[in-house]
Amino acid sequence: MMGNVNEPMSASSPARRRLVQVVIGAGYAGLSAALAARRAARTGSHKRNSELILVNPTDKQTLVTQLYRVAAGTLPAAAAQIDLGPILAAYGIRLLTATVHEVDLEHRQIYFTDDQPPLTYDQLVLAAGSEPETFGIPGVMEYAIPLYGLAEAEKVAALVSQLRQDPTGPGLAIVGGGLAGVELAAELAEVLPAVPESSTGARLRPVTLVEATPQLLPGLPGKVSRLALTHLQERGIRVRLGSPVAQVTGAGLILRDGSSVPARATVWAAGVRGHSRWVPAATRDRRGRLLVNSFLQLQDRPEVFACGDIALATAQGRSQPDAPTAQNAILQGAAVGANLERLASGRPLVPYRARNLGLLLALGRHQAAAVFGSTVLAGRHWQWIKEAVEAHYVWSVAGLGALLLQRLAAGGPRPNPTSPTVVSDHRVALKA
Ligand SMILES: Cc1cc2nc3c(=O)[nH]c(=O)nc-3n(C[C@H](O)[C@H](O)[C@H](O)COP(=O)(O)OP(=O)(O)OC[C@H]3O[C@@H](n4cnc5c(N)ncnc54)[C@H](O)[C@@H]3O)c2cc1C
Repeated sequence: MMGNVNEPMSASSPARRRLVQVVIGAGYAGLSAALAARRAARTGSHKRNSELILVNPTDKQTLVTQLYRVAAGTLPAAAAQIDLGPILAAYGIRLLTATVHEVDLEHRQIYFTDDQPPLTYDQLVLAAGSEPETFGIPGVMEYAIPLYGLAEAEKVAALVSQLRQDPTGPGLAIVGGGLAGVELAAELAEVLPAVPESSTGARLRPVTLVEATPQLLPGLPGKVSRLALTHLQERGIRVRLGSPVAQVTGAGLILRDGSSVPARATVWAAGVRGHSRWVPAATRDRRGRLLVNSFLQLQDRPEVFACGDIALATAQGRSQPDAPTAQNAILQGAAVGANLERLASGRPLVPYRARNLGLLLALGRHQAAAVFGSTVLAGRHWQWIKEAVEAHYVWSVAGLGALLLQRLAAGGPRPNPTSPTVVSDHRVALKA
């Protein structure tokens, strides 16, 4: 049942001492954890008096992996959200629309930013995702737009719309040549016009992608990095590799080598850190990710789990921690949900195991690449598969009706593509 968010929900009320399980964050990890816990409870043989509460600032899940399309103006914001109400109602999960200000692990208390009364929990899942990593670079907070929320994506979309009308003068700078930055640049190559550069005559689009390391998509196989680079450059996107940013200003970027990238706006996609400041007593790494054991519990806090971008999770049998991706967040969430139920029913927990599902990278609406270990496959059909995977996610958590509504919203007005084809063989001088 959906709860009244203002109704007091003390876990320790003597009148109804129910086990209170709280999940903070309704993103990929948190929703997956909540649904998995309820599914496990349904199939379990025992009956228990428990309440599961999902805390999220809004009653919608934002599909973060779709933000680059909202930013490019090719997807309406409404199509990048799922309504949580019907999903949670179907599973008997209570939604508390609130923002957590602090968690007191010692006293099992959750405090909120508004006048919502504190909430006491018995078991807790921390799944509040990540926040943009600024690396302490001056001007990022003041001038750059982080590609991490719907409001910010819509702000970028407004700038893109201006650039479509007038592509001359300073364009957009995108900082970060990882998944998010590359997918956004490739999408923009299909909606922004190419204009001849005065000095060389090369037809370029008003977008510069700036990456600190010598290659795009660091951490992925060199073949996919080269594929993405060629794809972007052929479509008139300027790419600056080996170019760490020293400062962001209102006029663009100042790079560490002293050169500058003029831009009317900067989009920040340079990486994330765990969004964990509001759990002061927890142990974390230098990127803010909470340290967890093989069952995804916090150290010395068996009643508290963490999953998704907020956690530094290493799957059983692996030496490297999981990358911050949606599919890892979903898998970790499912593992946590099942363990939450095991913990509640006094059964032994099961370690988190990863599955290698591969990674899909969109290169605009007409190309995508699939990465399976060191194997890279590319082609138009991978874009269809990526869309099918995204549709499957919505269907699996929200049902067919929600998927149809989302498809209808996605079919709304969108800019006509300019030219998805090659416009230039211009190669920007690459550093390093
Ligand atoms: C532009 C972009 C493109 C990407 N593309 C891909 C891709 O193609 N494939 C892929 O696998 N991954 C991709 N990723 C990464 C992926 O989106 C993240 O790894 C994933 O969203 C992490 O899931 P999560 O549940 O940990 O966090 P999120 O999905 O961010 O969810 C966190 C939730 O917690 C809530 N929350 C935060 N703070 C609080 C608080 N104080 N109180 C209450 N609730 C709170 C948030 O509102 C949100 O609902 C992309 C990321 C970006 C930014």
